[in-house]
Amino acid sequence: MYKIAIIEEIHQDGINLLEQNSNYEYEIIKDVSEKNLIEKLPAFDGCTLRVSKLDEQILKHCPKLKVISRHGVGYDNVDLKYLKKNNISLLITATANAVAVAEHVMTMFLSLSKSVQKYDQEVRDGNFKNNAKKIKTIELFNKNVLILGFGRIGKKLIERCLSFNTKVYVYDPYVEKKIIEQHGGIKVDSINEALKISDYVSLHMPLTEETKNLINYKIFKDMKKTAIIVNTARGGIINEADLDRALSENLIFGAALDVFLNEPIENNNPLLTNKKVILSPHSATFTDECTSRMGIETIKNIIDFFQKKIDKSMLVKL
Ligand code: NAD
Repeated sequence: MYKIAIIEEIHQDGINLLEQNSNYEYEIIKDVSEKNLIEKLPAFDGCTLRVSKLDEQILKHCPKLKVISRHGVGYDNVDLKYLKKNNISLLITATANAVAVAEHVMTMFLSLSKSVQKYDQEVRDGNFKNNAKKIKTIELFNKNVLILGFGRIGKKLIERCLSFNTKVYVYDPYVEKKIIEQHGGIKVDSINEALKISDYVSLHMPLTEETKNLINYKIFKDMKKTAIIVNTARGGIINEADLDRALSENLIFGAALDVFLNEPIENNNPLLTNKKVILSPHSATFTDECTSRMGIETIKNIIDFFQKKIDKSMLVKL
């Protein structure tokens, strides 16, 4: 019998898998304060994890813990060094969420292009006839898209962009030209040159020392004034203050952010009052379908792990 802690609620479809399997007992932990986790977690063999932090302070109290199953694919909230040193495995939901994120990016590309929010406001303000025509709108058709990072999400996004008859450039130094071309993309080696010719830019790489503040004021100055940029990857890759300035100075047309340097976003973040950016609360995967898939995959991964048949793509190399 394995004891599994569900840290923060997940979709019932995932819980059902545990309930159907007599080898597992589970408890949902809603209070994710350090104090409560230190008190509760030592009793468990495995746990699921959404956005709360599991660091050494908590993990050092959990000698039984063999596996952490992330509900998602990022893992910057887990102390990887501690996991490696103590032989705790880390699993991710590698196949569950790429489509939902790719659809979120398309939603943002199209909403910004067609000025959906501005038109909506004009109609509500009674300007059906007068002001509506003054609002600038553009098309994706025949435009240059740049995908930064060509992993699971980048590969789903390119299919959707190509169906809108765009030319898609891909910057990912770790993916071969051949693979990018097989997906219909054009590999670029210079991010700066690619950004100069791009109309739509979408970020799909991890936040690392190499990618931190990658998109900054100097880059915005070189971009097309009509460009649109979307970040669903991690906050901090686009410098937020520089984005706010670039939008205010009309260096680019618009932006959308699903992720922020500090989450939740702080009340004094200038982007909150900048009308040229669409903000969402790290919700790109919150579709009904995706939360169900993620719940199921999070739990299936734990079961597969204990049955020693976990798929390699779900296991993070530590
Ligand atoms: P992935 O690991 O499948 O792909 C990441 C890609 O980035 C890889 O191909 C890698 O080679 C590339 N890369 C690494 N460093 C790079 C660099 N310096 N420049 C260009 N490319 C680089 O990851 P994924 O599942 O596609 O996820 C992409 C990002 O989206 C991650 O940061 C992840 O945390 C984030 N994410 C966010 C949400 C959300 O809810 N907003 C959901 C899922 C994933």
